[in-house]
Amino acid sequence: MSADTTQLAANWAQVRQRVADACREVGRDPASVNILPVSKTFGAETVRSAASLGLHRFGENKVQEIRDKALALADLDLDWVVIGHLQTNKAKDVARLASEVQTLDRRELAEALHRRLEAEGRTIDVLVQVKTSPEPSKHGLPPDQLADFLRSLKSFGSLRVGGLMTLAINSPRPQEVRDCFRHLRELRDRAEQDGHRLPRLSMGMSGDFALAIAEGATEIRIGTAIFGGRANA
Ligand SMILES: *Cc1c(COP(=O)(O)O)cnc(C)c1O
Repeated sequence: MSADTTQLAANWAQVRQRVADACREVGRDPASVNILPVSKTFGAETVRSAASLGLHRFGENKVQEIRDKALALADLDLDWVVIGHLQTNKAKDVARLASEVQTLDRRELAEALHRRLEAEGRTIDVLVQVKTSPEPSKHGLPPDQLADFLRSLKSFGSLRVGGLMTLAINSPRPQEVRDCFRHLRELRDRAEQDGHRLPRLSMGMSGDFALAIAEGATEIRIGTAIFGGRANA
């Protein structure tokens, strides 16, 4: 193993242990929480090292990075998950390269993705990103539009809607962070009462995943704790 891979293996083991601990703390089965490794800003060779550890699904926030890495790693069978704000004009590349989009937050984007996916003859998994934090820098659908949006997505057969995603507020106060996660879970529960099936809740990152797990996250998106610090995060 290269030094890089050895470090990644240690980080990966530690993250899994911390997730297991967080689950045990709140009486959840660790198998009920998926970890999505977030490889954004790290190069193809780092992703290759991670793949050698058995990881095959990676979160990226820029479509250009997915293009570059998918090309460089075409010999591996990897799944690329879009977790960054998505411009409609990127729909074509996403339809070609991504297996999932976790940041679906407006009708125009759903239409563009559906059109391109139909042309490709593909379907993808999507999560609806909901804005649960007041910060202007955070994207997502306003919570009061969720019911209408979910209904409108029924007409896009190439988008398999599996749940909701959010980014919590950046706050030193755990309760404020946790309130964002709880809000997402409550929105999901309400939507399920309205007849939607939304088993997945993607919420929590390196700094706040324990709170997200306590509020029912089924998937946490982990960059720093696996790959290390980013120069330009
Ligand atoms: C970068 C990013 C993450 C991972 O953040 P870390 O703090 O490095 O774990 C998770 N979700 C989204 C949407 C991101 O952009």
